Amino acid sequence: MEVAEHGLQIAGRSVPASSGATIDLHDPATNRPIARVASGTREDVSAAVEAARTAFDSKGWRGLDPSKRGRLLWLLGQQIRDRFDELARLESLNVGKPLREARGDIAYVYKLFEYYAGLADKIQGETIPVPGERLDYTLREPLGVTAHIAPWNYPLLLASRGIAPALAAGNTVVLKPATLTPLTSIRLAGLAVAAGFPSGVLNVVMGSGKDVGEALAAHPDVDSVTFTGSTETGKQLLRTVADRVVPTTLELGGKNPQIVLADARRDRALRGVLAGAFQNAGQMCWAGSKVLVHEDLAPTFLAALQEQMVSMRLGPGLREDVQMGPLVSKDHVARVMSAIEEGRASGGRLLAGGGRPEDPNLRDGNFVLPTLFEDLSAESRVAREEIFGPVLCSWTFRDLDDAIERANDTPYGLAAGIWTQDISKAHTIARSLQAGMVSINEFPITFPQTPFLGWKQSGLGQEQGMDAVLFYTHAKNVLVNLE
Ligand code: ADP
Repeated sequence: MEVAEHGLQIAGRSVPASSGATIDLHDPATNRPIARVASGTREDVSAAVEAARTAFDSKGWRGLDPSKRGRLLWLLGQQIRDRFDELARLESLNVGKPLREARGDIAYVYKLFEYYAGLADKIQGETIPVPGERLDYTLREPLGVTAHIAPWNYPLLLASRGIAPALAAGNTVVLKPATLTPLTSIRLAGLAVAAGFPSGVLNVVMGSGKDVGEALAAHPDVDSVTFTGSTETGKQLLRTVADRVVPTTLELGGKNPQIVLADARRDRALRGVLAGAFQNAGQMCWAGSKVLVHEDLAPTFLAALQEQMVSMRLGPGLREDVQMGPLVSKDHVARVMSAIEEGRASGGRLLAGGGRPEDPNLRDGNFVLPTLFEDLSAESRVAREEIFGPVLCSWTFRDLDDAIERANDTPYGLAAGIWTQDISKAHTIARSLQAGMVSINEFPITFPQTPFLGWKQSGLGQEQGMDAVLFYTHAKNVLVNLE
C-alpha cells in the first residue's frame, strides 16, 4: 500500500533526514502501515536548532509587538479549529485512541494556543522599592531556543502545552515528537507557516529518543528543555542537561489514587473511575490507576465497575461507537501483558480482563482487555509502579487514614481523586494527599489555565496556567543609582 511520506520541518520547509532514513508508522488497531516519516540525525537536530537560533536572533519573533505575537498564536489556534476534524482523525489513527477522545485533545490544543495568545502581551516585570535614591526593576526576557520532547499518548496536546507558552514569551522552538506519533506535530509546523509565523520559529525533528532526543537535550545552543515521558527517561534526561545547567521541566509518571467514600454519588464516581483508568486505554501519566473504595460501598461499586468493564466496546479508535482503542504498539502490549502476569503471580485477584480480547476482528491490533485487580499486595510492582495501560488496582478500606496512607504510598505524586458529598471532608483529604493535582468529584480533568504539576518522582516544574510562561523567560534585575 502507498503511504504518505513526511519530512522534518526545519525553517518552514519539509526536508528529508540528512541520512535519508525513514521509519514506517502503523495503525495500532491493525498494524497496517499508515505513513512513512523522515527519521532525523544529530546533524538534523543541529540544523533545526540553528534555524531556531537564526529566527530568534533576527528579532522577527521576539522583537514583534507582543500583541502581534499573541495574534499569530491566536491565528494558529484558528488554523487548528479550521482543521479540527482532520487533526482529530489523524491523532486517532496514529495513537489508536477513540475519536471522541481525540476530538477532546484537539479542542484542548486550540484552547492552549488561544490562552497563551492572550498572555503574550501580559508578561511583565515589577518595580521593587529599595533604600535611598535608587530605582530597581525586573525585566522578563525570552530564553532563546527552547527544546520540547513529547510522548506518544497525547502527542499534539502535550507538545503544545509547552510550545504555546514558549512562543508567547518570544522563544523559538524545536520539537521532537515521540517516534511513533509525529503526524499531528508535523501538521502543526505547516499550520504555523500558514498562520504567518516567520520561518524557523517552530521546527519539528522526528527520530528516536536515544539519538534525536538526547542530541537535542545535549545541544549547546538549546536554552531550555521541556520533557514529558516516563520517570526513567526523565531521570536520564536530567543527567544529560546537568552538564549545561539549563532550565528544565519534567512531567513524568504517576500512580494516581482515587478515593471513593461511602457517601459518594455512586454512578458519578463510577464514571470518573472508569474514565480515569481507561481513557486512552490507561496510557496517561494522570491515569487514576488505583481505586480505594469504602467497605460500605465496595460490594455494589466493584460489581458495577466489573460489569461496565466487561461490556466495554473495544475497537479501532476511528469507529464512532468504540469506548477503548488499542495500545500504541506491539512492544507496549508486551510490556503491559507482562505487568498483568506479574500482578497475577504476586497474588492479586483478577476481577475483570487480564488478557487480550478473543474477537477475531481485533486479533491483528494491539488490544488488551480492561483489567481490574483486587487486593494486590502493597509491595507488588503493579500496585506501586505506573503500568501505562488499562490496568486498575482496587482496595477497600474502613478507616479513612488508612486509605490516605495507601493513596500516598507510591514514589509518584501527580494526580488524585476524591469522591464524596461531604465537601469539608473532601477539602481535608485534599490537604493530606501528596499530589500536584487533586480533583473532587471529577476525574481526570485539567484546563490550559490550571497548573499541571507533579510532586515526588512525577516531575519538576509546572506546566499550564500563567506561571508556565515565566519558565520560558529569564528574570533580570536592574538596579539604578539615581544620584
Ligand atoms: P514513552 O516512549 O514510553 O512515552 P519515554 O520517556 O521513553 O516514554 O519517551 C518520551 C519522549 O522522550 C519520546 O519522544 C522519546 O523518543 C524521548 N526519549 C527517549 N529516550 C530519550 C533520551 N535518552 N533523551 C532524550 N529523549 C528521549
